[in-house]
Amino acid sequence: VALQSVTPNGIKPYAVYDNIMHDKMRRDQMLAASMKNSLDRGEFQVFYQPMYDFSTKQIIRAEALIRWFHHELGTVHPNEFIPLFERNGMIVALDQYIWEAVCRYQRQCLDAMRSIVPVSVNVSRVDFYHQDIVELLTILLRKYDLPPHVLELEVTESAYMDDPRQMRVILTQLKEVGFHILMDDFGSGYSSLNMLMNLPVDTLKIDMLFIRQMDISQRAGDIIGSIVQMAQWLNLETVMEGVETREQSEYLKNIGCNAGQGYYFSKPISETDFFHFMDEYTPPVSEEIINIDYNM
Ligand code: C2E
Ligand code: MG
Ligand code: MG
Ligand code: MG
Repeated sequence: VALQSVTPNGIKPYAVYDNIMHDKMRRDQMLAASMKNSLDRGEFQVFYQPMYDFSTKQIIRAEALIRWFHHELGTVHPNEFIPLFERNGMIVALDQYIWEAVCRYQRQCLDAMRSIVPVSVNVSRVDFYHQDIVELLTILLRKYDLPPHVLELEVTESAYMDDPRQMRVILTQLKEVGFHILMDDFGSGYSSLNMLMNLPVDTLKIDMLFIRQMDISQRAGDIIGSIVQMAQWLNLETVMEGVETREQSEYLKNIGCNAGQGYYFSKPISETDFFHFMDEYTPPVSEEIINIDYNM
């Protein structure tokens, strides 16, 4: 009976739903079909977002975040194309492209005798099971003649849930090579603590969902504090993602969180802007200097 009902404009609800699904499928097909071409045209770019240490006031690393500037569709958001490319497997080629771009950038900076910070790259759950990432990353380091500490790896619990044992084996190998491992979006999923118990991680990146709730919920702030305390017990570094205000930054510093990443410090910026950012940056810096408002 519900399906028979008709909306005020005379369209059947399930027909509307069908249309939305159809549009999304068509757009997904279009994105998938143009991915390879976009790679060749350089429409995928790496943006960099610095992470700021609360006590030393230094930039301790930057996260590499992919951006897609499509020649027809304009900017396509990672939250739209990453899940799609994870479903169809294209993420593997895309992540390889990003990792190599980051290695090339670090090599260029070193050749230019510039001080660099480690750059963390995102590793999709799909990457773990469709290629030998230990070998791939080792080859990249060798190709660009880089030490492992200039490239760091952000992993999420979705990979862990796929195959805990396998992920443990791979991460242990990556640690042996010398990579620093960050657990991304910590606290947002179902098995964060289970994962923490079983995997050799160095840094917890606390999911921004907690900081988004802080203004309305005392409990959200308390949970961030508890995670930071637990991390201190476990000798892990903590990074808060999504820091947008001075108040949040002060709070995090006071509870002993190590570092913050977010619009308050800097948005993700292009490689060129990041190059100049690091150029102007002589550590330690005042908040005025690093709080440059670059536009994305
Ligand atoms: P993530 O790894 O958790 O990255 C953090 C996201 O938070 C980024 O979104 C970043 O732009 C955003 N962000 C940073 N500071 C703030 C802030 O102060 N406020 C708010 N509201 N947001 C902030 P982005 O770049 O859209 O990426 C979304 C997700 O897509 C990433 O989440 C990551 O899971 C995935 N992703 C991005 N680049 C890559 C990539 O190269 N490979 C893979 N596999 N995944 C990627
Ligand atoms: Mg990340
Ligand atoms: Mg994250
Ligand atoms: Mg996140």
